[in-house]
Amino acid sequence: MKIICIGRNYAEHAKEMNAAVPSEPVFFLKPDTAIIKDGQPFYYPDFSKEIHHEVELVLKINKPGKNIAIEFAHKYYDEIGVGIDFTARDVQAKCKEKGLPWEKAKAFDGSAPIGNFINKKNLQNNKEIEFHLAINNTIVQKGNTKDLLFSFDEVIAYVSKFITLKTGDLIYTGTPEGVGAIKIGDKLEAFIENKKMFDCEIK
Ligand code: MG
Repeated sequence: MKIICIGRNYAEHAKEMNAAVPSEPVFFLKPDTAIIKDGQPFYYPDFSKEIHHEVELVLKINKPGKNIAIEFAHKYYDEIGVGIDFTARDVQAKCKEKGLPWEKAKAFDGSAPIGNFINKKNLQNNKEIEFHLAINNTIVQKGNTKDLLFSFDEVIAYVSKFITLKTGDLIYTGTPEGVGAIKIGDKLEAFIENKKMFDCEIK
């Protein structure tokens, strides 16, 4: 399986990064070695002094597809989860400076912890899904899919022009504003519509 991450999909996050609001989706990949599941801890790596949290809703692809039309894209996922796109911001800044790819900053081991999934039928309205991240019981990021620059369906259609989607692939759909540094000892919890879906301790 592979992990596809959408960058700058909330305008307020693009602004806080001093990045342009994109006119088409921006995406990058993480390998399966990035996954952390079942509430396992994240071990702070020694190559960075500035790991940031980016809480994101995650789509689980349920069947293979290539060149998926927007009107059929909703048939390619049933389940939505929440995860963190951990980013070594200091490493990323150096890559950006030199115009180099971001993999070192984005695709490292443990950089994609993922929580439980919920069937989209159990959510009131896919176009207004509220989600948030709390660290040590304080809410640090809040998002709502009504603020997405590119909807889930647009993202699936766009990515599948370039890359065949396969069953079990995950799409991290972008982070809202409020990204920031984590530190050892932090307890991260993420929620979809106030239902706790995700736990991860930083060690
Ligand atoms: Mg992200």
